[in-house]
Amino acid sequence: MKYPVTYYCPHCETIVELARDGYLADKSVTQYPLDGWSYVSVDDEYETDGDGVRFVCGKDGSTVDPNVDGCGRPFYLSFVRKGTTEAGSALIQR
Ligand SMILES: [Zn+2]
Repeated sequence: MKYPVTYYCPHCETIVELARDGYLADKSVTQYPLDGWSYVSVDDEYETDGDGVRFVCGKDGSTVDPNVDGCGRPFYLSFVRKGTTEAGSALIQR
């Protein structure tokens, strides 16, 4: 079951939208990637392949209002990572 979740660009407050499975929990939305997190684009399988999503404001088709240009800068949605072990962390950092 997916449902749309909206986020604000931390640079310009443009609203973007992402279809999300309910079980994923958000940690934060930041201007810079978190150390050790891996990010995929909104077009990728963000629910299985990444620890978060790298938006490009207004450029990746995620804006709620298609008439809004956005600022063109990247920002990062980080999920709460579950089942993180030392082995898992080592894999992510390869
Ligand atoms: Zn923006």
